Amino acid sequence: MNFLSATDSHTVMTPEHHNKSILLVEDEQEIADIVTLHLSDLGFDVTHTTDGVQGLTLALQKSWDLILLDLTLPRLDGLDICKQVRESHPTTPIILVSARSGEEERVLGLDVGADDYITKPFSIDELIARVKAVLRRVDAMQGVVPTDVVSVNGIVLDPVRHTASVAGQSVNLTAREFELLLHFARYPGQVFKRSEILEKVWGTCHDGYLHTVNSHINRLRSKIEKDPAKPVYIQTVWGIGYKFAN
Ligand code: CA
Repeated sequence: MNFLSATDSHTVMTPEHHNKSILLVEDEQEIADIVTLHLSDLGFDVTHTTDGVQGLTLALQKSWDLILLDLTLPRLDGLDICKQVRESHPTTPIILVSARSGEEERVLGLDVGADDYITKPFSIDELIARVKAVLRRVDAMQGVVPTDVVSVNGIVLDPVRHTASVAGQSVNLTAREFELLLHFARYPGQVFKRSEILEKVWGTCHDGYLHTVNSHINRLRSKIEKDPAKPVYIQTVWGIGYKFAN
């Protein structure tokens, strides 16, 4: 008997996302069924609930690899769930699902700390691409990227412990905000175009996401700057992009 080939065939058969846990909070059963079916096919372990309060309870129960959160839910809004999860689980990746463009604006306008959002109606391919992209970034942050502590102008970032502090005060950052600040802090004084930031931090070149860079920088400023209207750390370079103060 050839044990090696048996092991090989098992490796090939194991889905790429085997054992990764996803919490899906979605009250439209039809959408939930399709999403659960496709994500399970990819090897994800999907837990689904239709209720906002139960969604929050489940979200806080363990460390999910990803949370997919519908906005309009019975009993508790997706934005409220997102905010509360962020307080105790600052790095859990969260993708918000919004139904209308008005909701989309609410998502962008509020500092709820989601890592990405997707608008209904979406194709299952688009959703899967977003899920994979978010998980890739998380893997990259935990894996092969340099792990040295970055300390510049009073900002200290520890990529291993995922902690951030400004002038000795610790700051709670989402996974994306941390990555964004880390990118800037690694290259003080260097000006980055929004498209470059998008590529480096979001891993996409899609122009449709450019406004996401602005909204994340605004959120980051509200957390690290004394006066977000007069930013000291992440400065706007008019007509070009942004730079970290050197
Ligand atoms: Ca809904």
